[in-house]
This record gives sequence, structure tokens and C-alpha cells, in this order.
Amino acid sequence: MTERKIRVRIAPSPTGYFHVGTARTAIYNWLFARKHGGEFLLRIEDTDEERSKKEWVDIILDGLKWMGVPWDGEVVYQSQRMGIYAPHADRLVAEGKAFRCFCPPQESVVGKDASERSFKYSGKCRDLPNEEIEQKLAAGVPSAVRLKMPKTGEATFTDAVYGKVNKAYEDLDDIIILKSDRRPIYNFAVVVDDHDMSISHVIRGNDHIANTFFQVELYKALGWDVPEFSHLPLILRPDRSKVSKRKGDKGVTEYFAEGFLPEAFVNYLALVGWSPKDDREKMTREEMIAAFTLEGINPNNAIFDVEKLLWMNGEYIRQMDSNKLVELAAPYFIDAGITTKYWIETNWHYVVKVIAVLKDRCKLISDFAKFGGYFFRSDFDYDPSGVKKHFAVDGTAENLRKLESSFSEIDDKNWSHDTTMQALTALATELGIKPAQLIHPTRLATSGATVGPGLYELLAALGKDRVQNRLERAINYIEKGQFPFAGE
Ligand code: GLU
Repeated sequence: MTERKIRVRIAPSPTGYFHVGTARTAIYNWLFARKHGGEFLLRIEDTDEERSKKEWVDIILDGLKWMGVPWDGEVVYQSQRMGIYAPHADRLVAEGKAFRCFCPPQESVVGKDASERSFKYSGKCRDLPNEEIEQKLAAGVPSAVRLKMPKTGEATFTDAVYGKVNKAYEDLDDIIILKSDRRPIYNFAVVVDDHDMSISHVIRGNDHIANTFFQVELYKALGWDVPEFSHLPLILRPDRSKVSKRKGDKGVTEYFAEGFLPEAFVNYLALVGWSPKDDREKMTREEMIAAFTLEGINPNNAIFDVEKLLWMNGEYIRQMDSNKLVELAAPYFIDAGITTKYWIETNWHYVVKVIAVLKDRCKLISDFAKFGGYFFRSDFDYDPSGVKKHFAVDGTAENLRKLESSFSEIDDKNWSHDTTMQALTALATELGIKPAQLIHPTRLATSGATVGPGLYELLAALGKDRVQNRLERAINYIEKGQFPFAGE
């Protein structure tokens, strides 16, 4: 590690999609900065006109805020820096480290057809006599600027993840750094920007390794300190193909909307390609900051497994305070039309109990609304197979009526898991039946479903009035032999 102050950055291009790979790059940069008391900066590479939409930039800013991975200082917008690149290129030309190329783009390459991507610069303008250059400039022939790369030997740099990497200069072209419209290409802009932002460590996707050879050469030509590089392995789906929007893979924004918790998301994503070198999986941010090292990044491609992420999200939900969960789950209840903000606020205590009961079964914050609608509405449908199995049994209506009457003897303030259990068990004994013969129809009567939380937790959370009313409702339907079913 050098003496330089640690300053890292991410430099996403706004594409309208916040890829999990970009999110992980952000997390690693942020962990590294926090660990070393450095700064984590954000540069938006928005020079592509079509891609500069404000809402696309917001997707990145909102995603970082949601993840709780905040950048330091002002956001740097590359589009606002367009004037600063050309003078650096001119200096390189003046120093003989770069040269003007007057060839129209299609004529400057030799070798295979450009579409086959093995084209190479012809070298035509590399050593043009000064006179000719002057003439062309005077005649107003447009020119790009190319970096003069060495012709022999090997370009090399040491990567914290991949070790020493090299490539023969023979295979590295004199790349264009400034186009004829005086706009920089990526490799040039990134070097000037990272230098101006005093970036000490560049941590980014390994798709940029090939670019790094050119960037290192540019730093040297410009006489600037070369940052340390760490390239990150790809993130693959369980079938080992690349994570991509086209395949329907979700971006950060969608994970956010679906009810993932930022703590779980960041924790899981940090472990896709990095490990603290012990078996820890569930880690707080502080623990990750303390354990994070660039050396702990695994150079092999890593698998992003949504099932594992769901599991981890469930773990975080289980340990979360129920009041906090109510706040998070409320928008999903409201959006689903299950209840209103006002109702939640005025029945807070009840909603906290509901959340506490459902918590063990939910892997997403949105699951509370998905599984818990019956806590808020009493006009629910009954599961049709449950009706056949548990209501259409002789004696059910009478049994439920007896249960209702046993329950009515429980004092309101004693209504609980234990007292409802005692009442039900005692009644089963009295009737000479198994408790299960009361438990199943009672669950169906009070929730409409055949599965859910433990029955007595359910009854305790619903409270005596709701339970009594729902038993009454079910008894009426059983006696009539008609039931409201889902979809009817
Ligand atoms: N805009 C580039 C990207 O999104 C930035 C690469 C870099 O970090 O240098 O891949």
C-alpha cells in the first residue's frame, strides 16, 4: 500500500439498468474506502447523448442510497468536463507522445474486416513529416489524436486480484484518444478523470483489463502517478451465463421494489466473489469493513444465486424489530389495497402483532402483504381444497359452535396463545376427538387458508372478537353448504 490517501470511485454509465455487477463494484469500493479512512467517489460517465437521461442517472443515485453505500462529495458528471480533455491530448502531441491521424476512420485500419474485430491500425500517420502535418492542418483536414504506443516489449501491470498481467505491445494499437470532434474516447477520459479526482485505487470489472494496458501507458505519457488496479471477476447466473437484463435478470431497482432489505442485499452481494476467509456469511457492515481486503477477492467468476439471496433476506427479516418491519411492510399492504395508511397508524399495536406472527415465513418484505391479507379483511375466500377436507366433514359446524362458546368464556384480557390452546384441547378431549380435527377447520375459518403460522399464534394475534366473528361466518357457510372461493 502506498502513502497516497485512499480515494476510489465507481464510474457507471447511465443505461437505465443498475446491474448487480455495478452494485457489487460499488460495495467493494465503498468497503475499501471505509476500511482505510478514504473516500468513495462517484463519477457518472454520461457522455453518450442518448444515455444521459436524468432518470437513468437517478436509477444509479437512488440505488446507491437504497443500498446504504453512499458516495462522498459531489457527483462528477463527465458530460460537464468535455472541455478539459483536448489540451492534455495536445500536450502529448507537442511532446511527441501522441500524433495526429488524418485518415478517415475506415481507411486507417488494415487486416480483417472491422466487423471481425481483428483490425489493426495501419500506422500511416505515426511518422508523418511535420510539413505534411502543417499542410493538412492548414487545409482543415480533420484529425484524431492517437497515442504512440511502444512497438516492442510487453505492456504490464500488477493487479491486486489477477497478479501480474502482460500483453505484447505488438498487439496493442496506437489507440485514438481524441476523436476528430475533439471529444475524448473512454480510455483517455477515464485517465484524465481519475487523475483529476486523485484516484489511488481503481477497482472495477475485469472486462476492463484489456483497457488497462492503454491506460497505464497514458498515465506514463502524461507523467502522472499510476493508480493501483483491482479487477473483479464476472458475476454469473447459476447456469454460468452472464447476468443480463435481456434474460430478465433484475437490476438493483427491482430488488429494492420487490421487498429485499438493503442490509441483506449488500451482505449477500459482497460475498459474491469475496470472502472473509472464514465461514461467516451473515455479517454486519462494520464486520465487512473490518474484514475486507482486495486480496480476499476470488479471481474466479462468481455465481449470483437469487435463492440464496432470498434465504439471507429471510434471515434479516427474522432478526429485525417488528415495529421497523411494520414501517417497511406498510406500503405493500397499502399498494395491494389490503388496508390504508390511516388504519395502520391507528391500529399499530395489532399490525405489530401480525408482523411478528408472519415474520418466520416471509423472505421478502412484500411477502407480509402476500401472506397476511386475512389479518386485515374478514371477507376472505376459503381455500377450496381445505373446504372439502375440513368443512365438509359431518359435525364440523357443531364442533366450531362449541369451540366458539368455549372461547367466549375466555376473558378478553386473558386471550392468548396458551388460553386458546387450553380451551381447544379441553374441548377435543370432551368430544373424544383429536385436537387436529378442531385445529384444521379453525385455521380455515379464521384465515381462509390451510397453511400459515401456528394456530394459537394466529388466534392470539387476531384477538378474540375477530376469531369469534370469523367462526360465526364459517359456521353460517358450512350450514348453508356454500362458500366463497377464490376466483369465483
Ligand atoms: N463507464 C465504465 C463502465 O461502466 C467505467 C469503467 C471504469 O470503472 O473505469 O464500465
